Amino acid sequence: MSFLGYKEYIEEGDLVLAYLGRESMKPIIINSKETLNTRFGAFAHSDIVGKKYGSQIKGSKGYGFIHLLQPTAELWTLSLPHRTQIVYTPDSSYITQRLGITCGSRVIEAGTGSASFSHSLARTVSTKGTLFTFEFHKPRYEEAKREFEEHGLINDPVIINHRDVCKDGFEIPEVELKSTAIFLDLPSPWEAIKHLPKVISDDEKVGICCFSPCIEQVDLTIKALQEHGWTDIEMVEIQGRRWEARQTMVRQVDDAISRLKDVKTRKLEGIEKKRQYYANNNIKVEDLTPEQSDSNDEGSKKRKLKEEQEQTKVTKTEFNPFGRGLRIKEGDENYQWCKISKNEAEVKSHTSYLTFAFKTASTSTSSL
Ligand code: SAM
Repeated sequence: MSFLGYKEYIEEGDLVLAYLGRESMKPIIINSKETLNTRFGAFAHSDIVGKKYGSQIKGSKGYGFIHLLQPTAELWTLSLPHRTQIVYTPDSSYITQRLGITCGSRVIEAGTGSASFSHSLARTVSTKGTLFTFEFHKPRYEEAKREFEEHGLINDPVIINHRDVCKDGFEIPEVELKSTAIFLDLPSPWEAIKHLPKVISDDEKVGICCFSPCIEQVDLTIKALQEHGWTDIEMVEIQGRRWEARQTMVRQVDDAISRLKDVKTRKLEGIEKKRQYYANNNIKVEDLTPEQSDSNDEGSKKRKLKEEQEQTKVTKTEFNPFGRGLRIKEGDENYQWCKISKNEAEVKSHTSYLTFAFKTASTSTSSL
């Protein structure tokens, strides 16, 4: 199973992202002897083998279902086991385009952490590029390495190293890194910046992005970048928001007046019909028993209401812009509409400051 290609049918040993809902997705490795237990009931892995990626299957409880999704970097970010804070898609996509990372790029990343961004970078740089990722925490390094192996990313395009980059830099024996993009998600990126000249390309434009949650870290990073000859330094913050765009009906004062007139007409029609009903049935209002006229018990109330409704049935208003009445489809050409947008709940993203800087061939050689 590889994150880099698509396959149609699920086989034993494949990674499947079981999508239970917008907020819940479970990564499972298919093993016919196992069962996935969810709030919708049990799903035997053996029933999943042979199904198409994207299929919907029903739970054993008879209600609810899951979708069997093919892993992508974006879905992995939403479902991966967290070992650290992670970079979410709004940030990773921005950083990728801002640093000009593309198929064939040679990228340096430190630290690997939960390998959320690593999966996205691996997909972007493949097939001819390489991601050199560094992690100094042994258990995290091993977990990430195992994941890269399982996901068909190890060695090509991902080379993972167990290393303290602030102390020992980024050089890898017998490998010319010649990197054009660097991403540092470290507590003290300014300590790693001094090691970069040895591993960046000296004949191409090189970009760096440092991801830091505190403005004090940004300050120290900028000082280090300036000291080591990086230019075009800029700090940005991604504030993810989801916007819903739709149309709303334009309501005029005339509409409100028509509506009030309509309510009045319906009321009068109702009273008139009731009067006619009493007249046709030779009922005099003064003949009504107190129970019939203003009884308060629930049965009488309901009977009275039903009777009144029967007698006062009038045709539904054709158009009521203030609710009830006939339903109008959004965008109906017979009515006037205006476009509005609504701010939805905040999109999941780790609000850190992104400090970008660049070196061109001439600045990179002159600063060394
Ligand atoms: N960007 C990652 C992701 O999207 O999953 C998360 C990175 S996490 C916030 C930071 C990682 O950097 C941690 O796993 C930490 O162990 C590692 N780290 C911190 N200092 C380091 C250093 N000097 N050298 C290598 N790794 C380091």
